[in-house]
Amino acid sequence: MRNEYDVIVIGAGPGGSVTAREAAKKGLNVLLIEKRERVGYPVRCGEASTTFEDLQSFGPIPEECIESRIDGLIAYGPAGTKVDYYKKDTGVMLNREKFDPCLAELAAKDGAELVTFARASAVSPVQDGKRTVTIVTRDGVQEVKAKVVVAADGVESLIGRMVGMQTRQIPDLTCCGVDIKVEGILTAPDYLTFWQGIDYINDGYIWSFPKVRSNVTNFGAGFLIPKKQGPSILEVTLDWMNKLFPNAKIISTVGGVIPVSGNLKEFAADNFVLVGDAAHHTNPLTGGGISAAMRAGRHAATVIAENIAAGDVSKASFAKYEKLVEQDFGKKHQFQLKFRRFLLEQNRNDQIDTYNFLNSVMGRDGHKIDLLLHPMRTAKVLTKFVKFK
Ligand SMILES: Cc1cc2nc3c(=O)[nH]c(=O)nc-3n(C[C@H](O)[C@H](O)[C@H](O)COP(=O)(O)OP(=O)(O)OC[C@H]3O[C@@H](n4cnc5c(N)ncnc54)[C@H](O)[C@@H]3O)c2cc1C
Repeated sequence: MRNEYDVIVIGAGPGGSVTAREAAKKGLNVLLIEKRERVGYPVRCGEASTTFEDLQSFGPIPEECIESRIDGLIAYGPAGTKVDYYKKDTGVMLNREKFDPCLAELAAKDGAELVTFARASAVSPVQDGKRTVTIVTRDGVQEVKAKVVVAADGVESLIGRMVGMQTRQIPDLTCCGVDIKVEGILTAPDYLTFWQGIDYINDGYIWSFPKVRSNVTNFGAGFLIPKKQGPSILEVTLDWMNKLFPNAKIISTVGGVIPVSGNLKEFAADNFVLVGDAAHHTNPLTGGGISAAMRAGRHAATVIAENIAAGDVSKASFAKYEKLVEQDFGKKHQFQLKFRRFLLEQNRNDQIDTYNFLNSVMGRDGHKIDLLLHPMRTAKVLTKFVKFK
């Protein structure tokens, strides 16, 4: 590592690697550090993500990173209701053990300096127009300066807090999740399958995501961190797995935390930006954050390059980054947050109406005519949602 760079990116997850690569492509000197020895390992994720075409805009992504193509989703709700949504190429199942290193290698190929087993332990206040990052490696501790520091250090983001940002997870707005890798394909191989609502898990959901290439399923569950003590998320997930798939054979189990608050109000400071989970960029309805982290990384790099060229990397200069993210997915995430809260606060009968309504609108076996055949139900669902604050 040199003593100084234009940009230091902390964390080589999808958000950090994309930021580092895009910034390097714009001619900046970039250091990308990752505390783990192996980028992307261990995987703590359900691994479902955006469309193949979308992913390729961050690529080239080799086929071996793609486990399966997804053509829709099935969501089971209360009282046997079901939404069966079909859309060709809605997304893919990734193999993040391969995908995350692939993104980091692309960043390195395009000129970013990638150092693994390198943990940022401190970030200084701005001095002479730069911040200093203290980096702990096998060889010792090194202080490295940069015009801009990017914290893409994930949900545990301590770096943001070090510079005074409100990155802390608030229990009510944070999901805890467990993902269990099991042998074979448990559900439709080209579909994401969910179970949600009062009959299953209300303040979260159960998932079954097929990884066809590896012939395994990511089975998992997540819910908002509960206010009262109760069974752990691991106990709940295992319980549901035994009920739904009593013969499932477990390969491995991981757990983690997912920010589902919607984007932080502010995710930039002087000479500093947050990207991805560190900025709570995750989708508050699904908990998916891979694609949002990458998109945010691309926006961050664009604005960092512009600002460095203009000689202004103040907090105000990064308002453009926050605006680009807001326009790209921030508003959509606000809508999804509202929908999640709406669904969770409904009683069982209202949830049944909502699931039936959704199936009429978007289900493969649904009929839009049902909206007219059940005018009271349609009006009730729509009015309640519009009025919901
Ligand atoms: C159980 C579970 C299931 C999930 N399922 C899905 C899913 O199916 N689809 C989906 O889209 N999302 C899913 N997510 C969320 C998804 O994993 C994250 O949104 C995504 O990884 C965010 O990318 P990121 O780059 O912001 O952060 P991360 O991928 O978390 O990367 C952060 C990186 O920073 C490194 N780091 C941290 N601190 C330091 C430091 N001080 N110095 C150096 N390096 C550091 C970490 O080691 C890590 O590699 C799931 C999450 C969980 C917990």
